[in-house]
Amino acid sequence: MAEAAISIRNLVKRYAGAKGQLGKLALDDVSFDVPQGTIFGLLGPNGAGKSTLINTLAGLVTKTSGQVSIWGFDIDHDVRNAKRSIGIVPQEIVFDPFFTPAEVLEIQAGYYGVPRAARRTLELLGAVHLSDKANAYARTLSGGMKRRLLIAKAMVHSPPVLVLDEPTAGVDVELRRQLWELVGELNAQGVTVVLTTHYLEEAEQLCDRIAIINHGRLIANKSTAELLSTAREKIVVLTLDRDLPAGASLPSHPAFLKAQVTGERTIEITYDKDRTNAGEVLALVQGHGLAIDDVTTREADLEDVFVALTSAAHAA
Ligand code: ADP
Repeated sequence: MAEAAISIRNLVKRYAGAKGQLGKLALDDVSFDVPQGTIFGLLGPNGAGKSTLINTLAGLVTKTSGQVSIWGFDIDHDVRNAKRSIGIVPQEIVFDPFFTPAEVLEIQAGYYGVPRAARRTLELLGAVHLSDKANAYARTLSGGMKRRLLIAKAMVHSPPVLVLDEPTAGVDVELRRQLWELVGELNAQGVTVVLTTHYLEEAEQLCDRIAIINHGRLIANKSTAELLSTAREKIVVLTLDRDLPAGASLPSHPAFLKAQVTGERTIEITYDKDRTNAGEVLALVQGHGLAIDDVTTREADLEDVFVALTSAAHAA
């Protein structure tokens, strides 16, 4: 098997506390690999430790213990090569407003010591669809253009691994779609992509593999398909042949996780698919004296899985 793009072993980060007290344990013995060539999603609720992990990769946070290597280079013992192997797209947009996109990329390439002949300024601007803005002042770019420029800036030294921290936080639907496409294009060219996101739909659509952290601990690390298949819930939405009388009761069963009235004629039943099935649910509803006009079912999505996992871990 090819070596992992990123390998994290027993990573611990405890921030310094006030006056010699123990500070926050932001990462608690986290181990996982990001396989080469994937689009890897790092998910978790606010405060879970995602930024701490990304900032450790970026060399901005000093870990307390554990080993991290990027493209096979240990971040402690081979700092230079590790740094050259990764590009980080920060969440915040910071550019000098008086530089043009072409200058921003040239300066960044200089910072990484990329020789002039090896620079990819125009190619990168093309890749992020900013060729026609090469010589415009950065301050005249739209928010979406600035985000795309940040991605190009993270790629000047041609790193095999690109990390995006909340790439679509606060952006509109159209721009989100553009950024997803761009990430897909870079990945198709062989770049391994790691991204954090709050949008579970984004992770579900874009990522091959997903790790979830909660309270500093890794609670899941699976292919997106496998993770979705761990959901035990399934939802049936039933339209009845007439309005439900006020105060009508709904059928109950030990395998029903939730039964609720969602409209004058619709009820929604969430059930444990390991313990019953849609046929039995329908029979129970009919046996309860309700006649059914129409039926749709819905599989649990990543949001359902995420909520189940993070709330279970919290209760444990
Ligand atoms: P996320 O990115 O998932 O929201 P963070 O990595 O930012 O989570 O934070 C993880 C935990 O570490 C939180 O409890 C946060 O308050 C704490 N934390 C983050 N940065 C610092 C810091 N510089 N000093 C002390 N505690 C911090």
